[in-house]
Amino acid sequence: MVESNGNLENHVQIPKIKFTKLFINGEFVDSVSGNTFETIDPRNGEIIARISEGDKEDINLAVKAAREAFDNGPWPRLAPSERRRIMLKFADLIVENAEEIAALDAMDAGKLFAPLKNMEIPSAAETIRYYAGAADKIHGTTLKMSREIQGYTLLEPIGVVGHIIPWNFPTQMFTLKVGPALAAGCTMIVKPAEQTPLSALYYAHLAKQAGVPDGVINVVTGFGSTAGAALCSHMHVDKISFTGSTEVGRLVMQAAALSNLKPVSLELGGKSPFIVFDDVDVDKVAPLALIGILYNKGEICVAGSRLFIQEGIYDKFVKKLEAMAKTWVVGDPFDPNSHQGPQVDKKQFERVLSYIEHGKKEGAKLLTGGKALDRKGYFIEPTIFIDVEDDMKIAKEEIFGPVLSVMKFKTVEEVIKRANCTNYGTSSGCNDQCLEHCYTVSRSIRAGVIWINCYFAFDADCPYGGYKSSGFERDLGMEGLHKYFQVKSVATPIYNSPW
Ligand code: NAD
Repeated sequence: MVESNGNLENHVQIPKIKFTKLFINGEFVDSVSGNTFETIDPRNGEIIARISEGDKEDINLAVKAAREAFDNGPWPRLAPSERRRIMLKFADLIVENAEEIAALDAMDAGKLFAPLKNMEIPSAAETIRYYAGAADKIHGTTLKMSREIQGYTLLEPIGVVGHIIPWNFPTQMFTLKVGPALAAGCTMIVKPAEQTPLSALYYAHLAKQAGVPDGVINVVTGFGSTAGAALCSHMHVDKISFTGSTEVGRLVMQAAALSNLKPVSLELGGKSPFIVFDDVDVDKVAPLALIGILYNKGEICVAGSRLFIQEGIYDKFVKKLEAMAKTWVVGDPFDPNSHQGPQVDKKQFERVLSYIEHGKKEGAKLLTGGKALDRKGYFIEPTIFIDVEDDMKIAKEEIFGPVLSVMKFKTVEEVIKRANCTNYGTSSGCNDQCLEHCYTVSRSIRAGVIWINCYFAFDADCPYGGYKSSGFERDLGMEGLHKYFQVKSVATPIYNSPW
């Protein structure tokens, strides 16, 4: 590992923080209590800004605004082509402001500035465009029920949606939740993660500028146990779309069940297997495996955190991983040379380090890394454990950090069984020149996404989501749109039908 000391002032203009208040009914407002909380820069632990702390009363106001906008406002009643036009404008504004938003997410989450600006934010704008394009192509079906009765289905917007999002991809999460809900004609309340509130408030401002009517998008910043919980148990919220930990996913479902039985969709944690067979080109696949765990400093639910290598190439592959990890640059996320920034906050930083200690105690062999960087901020060395056993804590639990568990296997049957031996099921990687192996693995692994000879192949058109304790329903793709509809069947008698 190489440490970068790059200074962000050399590369980027740090933006002034413009939006720190709740966004309710088209206005930035203080929380009812007047309370605020700090959002912290993980590069140094310093305060970036104080943000309004919304709780139950603010959620009530936001739901009231969203309810009114849904029941009586223009958005669900607009011609779909008009919704599309406004959404396209919103996407254009995101692209125009990409540099400023990238700086906000980089500061708030410790994410690398350059990929944010050049890739993640433009692709988030594409997600809005994708759903804008779908807005006027929403159709039900015609049903030939019998000779005497015919029917059809109407897809109606589900109503007021609560989106609860995590901190690891503040921009992507905002757009992949808000985009389809807007296209469907819903109104909504977004509760961003308390660690990363800045970009969500900025997006609310851009949406208003694009012409999204007041009350359609509301953003309530605050904590999960107060603002988030109030949203989930609110009687006038029609759906919750949640992304976060499996633990909190359970609470969300419980709150929904105990209030108005609103439907929920859950995108939760993961512990994905990345499988490598003997006949791969090690020089090509080892970098993929390394990115599979280190991208976004391992803070990604689909991280390939369990690397299964077939025995014939195990030693060669491990040597290659070690050599690459030595040149991996950890440092300031604004420095274009950095490959990895700091973990999002102190809690996450300590959590990852405690898993590393567990790995050492359980007897896994440390190949690289294994500790924090000796500097301010929440930086951790890229850490690779080899000779890991399936029942070790580091092989079973989601670490959500730059920690890879490497394991050896012999046969395809064995690796399928071991890869599936987890409560999670977000994704899997399968690498082999033999497509037969890849197809067998892809059908056998119980996970929502299988990447064959690639990893992190995302697209707005490609649904993703989990099996098992990784959740249910899908984000992105047309599946990501359909969860924001109710299907209504209409039937009517028909006389003298010739058929
Ligand atoms: P988290 O569950 O602690 O928090 C996620 C969101 O839920 C935050 O906005 C938080 O404020 C809110 N929240 C917390 N308690 C709540 C409650 N009682 N009621 C309602 N809302 C509440 O998760 P996190 O630590 O922010 O994110 C990391 C987790 O998210 C990891 O487990 C990761 O795998 C998962 N994740 C999954 C996906 C996916 O698509 N499957 C994507 C990103 C992250």
